[in-house]
Order: sequence, then C-alpha cells, then structure tokens
Amino acid sequence: MPKGGIEVRAETTGALTRMAHELLTSPELGELLDKLEREIKELPYESDKASLVRVTRRQYDNAVKLPTKLVEELEKATALGQDAWERAREESDFRAFEPHLARILELQIEKAHALGFEDDPYDALLDTFEPGMRSRDVTALFDQLKSRLVPLIQAINERADAVDAAPLQRGFDVDSQWSVTMEVIERIGFDLKHGRQDRSAHPFAMGLAPTDVRLTTRFDPEYLGSGLYGSIHEAGHGMYEQGLPLEHIDDFLGNSVSLGIHESQSRLWENIVGRSRPFWRYFLPKVQAAFPGKLDDIDVEGMYRAVNKVAHPSVIRVEADEVTYNLHIFLRFELERELIAGRIEVRDLPEAWNEKTRAFLGFTPASDKVGVLQDVHWSAGLFGYFPTYTLGTVLSAQLYECVKRDVPDVEDRIALGDFSAIKSWMQARIYRHGARFEPLELIERATGEPLRPEPYLRYIEEKYRELYGIS
Ligand code: ZN
Repeated sequence: MPKGGIEVRAETTGALTRMAHELLTSPELGELLDKLEREIKELPYESDKASLVRVTRRQYDNAVKLPTKLVEELEKATALGQDAWERAREESDFRAFEPHLARILELQIEKAHALGFEDDPYDALLDTFEPGMRSRDVTALFDQLKSRLVPLIQAINERADAVDAAPLQRGFDVDSQWSVTMEVIERIGFDLKHGRQDRSAHPFAMGLAPTDVRLTTRFDPEYLGSGLYGSIHEAGHGMYEQGLPLEHIDDFLGNSVSLGIHESQSRLWENIVGRSRPFWRYFLPKVQAAFPGKLDDIDVEGMYRAVNKVAHPSVIRVEADEVTYNLHIFLRFELERELIAGRIEVRDLPEAWNEKTRAFLGFTPASDKVGVLQDVHWSAGLFGYFPTYTLGTVLSAQLYECVKRDVPDVEDRIALGDFSAIKSWMQARIYRHGARFEPLELIERATGEPLRPEPYLRYIEEKYRELYGIS
C-alpha cells in the first residue's frame, strides 16, 4: 500500500474499528444475549446455538469494558506506530520509534485496567490472545522448558560443528525457490483454489474467509531455508483458516480460537513435519531437480541434518532453529511483563533487550535493527502475544503424538508424499470447531489431556541428542 496514504488509512481503520465496537457493545445486543441465555439453558453445551450465545457473550463482555475512545486511539496509535517502526528498523534508529511505543504502551496499560485482572495486568492482555491462559501458568511452563532446554543448548554448542547447514547456503535461484514453495504448500494440503501465495517483506497468513486465504513469503537467494520454511509455516496457518466452519462465516464461531492453537498448526508443519526425514525422502529429489547441480551430492540424511542445524548464536527469532526459538520468546515475555508493570521505561528498552539477549542467548545484538526493533508486534500493539508462540510450539508436539497414535503409519505415508492424514486429523479435532471451545478446553478434547510440556521435551531431546551425538 502506498506510504503516502498512511495518515488517511489510520483514520479510516480507526473509524471502522469504532463502528464495529459500537455495534458489538450496543445495549440491544446485551438485551438479546440476556434473553437468549434463558432460552438455551436446555440445549447441549456443544450445540451451535448454545455455543454461539456463549462465545458472543464473551466477546460482548470484553468489548463493553473497553471505551470506544480507547479502541479508536489504539487503532490510530498502532497504524502510525507500525509505519514508524518500519522506518526506525530500516535505519536502526530506536529513538524514532520510542515516542510511538511509549504511547502504545500507555494505551495497552489503560486497556489492561479496563479489561480487569486478578493480580497481574499482563493477564488481561494475554487473555485477549489466549483465552483462559494466565501468566503464572505461562511462567510455570516456561520454567519447565528452560530447565531442560538450556542444558541441551549448552551441550549442542559444545558440538556445534557436528551438524553442517552449508548445503542450504549454496545460492538458490529465487524463481526456482518460488516454484518449490508452491509445489510444497500444495502437496502438504494448502488449497490453491481457496487461497494464494504472494511475496512480501514479512511473511504472513490471513484468512478473509475459509474460501479465500492469503499467504506471503520472502526469499533469501543465499539461503534456501528462509523461503521454504517460511512458506510451510504460513501454509500451516492457512490450512487452519481454510478448515474453519464456512457455515459460521458471519458469526464468532467461524473464527480461529486463539493464537496458540494457530501457531500449533504452523509450527507442526514447519518443524515436526517439514524438518523430518520422511518429508525429505519425498521432497529431496524434487528440490534437487529444481536447482540443477546444486544439491546432487546431498542425500536425505545430509538434508535432514542441514535443515536442523542449531544456530549459534541465534540472532533473529523468525529464522531461529526450533531449540533456541523458545529462548527468544522467554526474553520478550519477561520484557513485556516488566514494561506493563512499569519496572522498565521504554527509553531503557534497547539496553534491557541487549542485557537479556546476553543472558538468554549469549551474545550482544550488532544493532537495534536486529535487536529491539526486529519484531513488528509491539508497534502493532500486540502485547501479551509472544507467549502464544511457545504455547503453540509445545502443543504441536502433543498433537503430533496423537496423530501418530491414531495413524501409526503416518510417516510412511509422508515419505510417499501423502500428507492427507495429518490434515484430516486436524480437520476433525481442531479446524472444524472454530471458536466453539476455549483453547484449553479444545486441547483436552482433541488430545484427551491438558496442555503439557512432556511430548515437546521428549520430541526435542530425542531429535537433537541423536543429531548432535549427545549421550
Ligand atoms: Zn506463525
């Protein structure tokens, strides 16, 4: 979209957001909900009607807590903030972004207080992305992960040379990369009749409807993994969007339920499937054919090892390997809680960022561009969002254990290019429910257990101990 239109777009989206908010918070809707709640008392919990009233009630209750003016201010501040962040990042100039971020943070704190919370304002914001999740649960989960991931990363770093990613860095024609990603996303199940892929500066997935889902990706001519895994990740999001119940396109049940559930889908396809041996058994000959002469000397084992190299140091979250990835999330979670609690000031954020990067990842970012300015989220007002990345990652392993239990030959099928069992399983257990059940409830229904870190830790430890020869 043209840069010169930013002010008018900010006004326009602000006005639309205000109108939507006014409709959602109208007294008529409140009265209708009161009436309907009496009517649905006898209906089964899972039924369309009972679910629709329950989910709409939740949206309504949250919305009425937010003054229209605050909603509009937030929309405007973030439209301007994202533009400012983009320019600040380009020039690695945090000071140009600082006043915008300070304003956004101020509004976020106001939002947290308007929504209400028991003991931690962060909970109010987290709940908007992951309903039912509390920061003390996140802290407990992260502590369990840390206690096992940190020693694993140390052991990997001591054997950093055991795995070689050089085959992915041989220079790959971007047009051929495009063709490969299109072939991969279609084969794994992204429906190109009801979606498309384009190129942009930052990869994303957006569902306008289950019948119209847009993905974007970006390519690095020097590194094959960037575009390929970016596309697979977004296609995982896209398949979830395509599987949402079309009959609920006009009501809240047709939405995805939370970011954590969304991320469980993208990370499952990107990592657990896309970085597996069976995946490369099927795709290696195709990728070799797309880049004549580039990968002829690489076998499945060599490719499997290359795509699972743990980066040291791990600089950018979006391109982090799956072991160090979570450390990036822990870092942002801790900083966000301190910002929201007023324990650190926005102006001190770059130094706080660098300090935590040293503590968690063992290096100092070369500049703010690759440090505090690397992610778009804060400029977009997305406070309370980052934990959902790790929640999704943890859940992806729990879901995949269930898929393997129900479809014992799933990996043989993948090696033959048949990925349909995974998508069907997700369709039956996750996609089709839309927002009918809250995330923690959906996880229990889908897997028979609450969210737990054990499947993920088992997956990551087994895989990386073998890869790096750690006893
Ligand atoms: Zn994602």
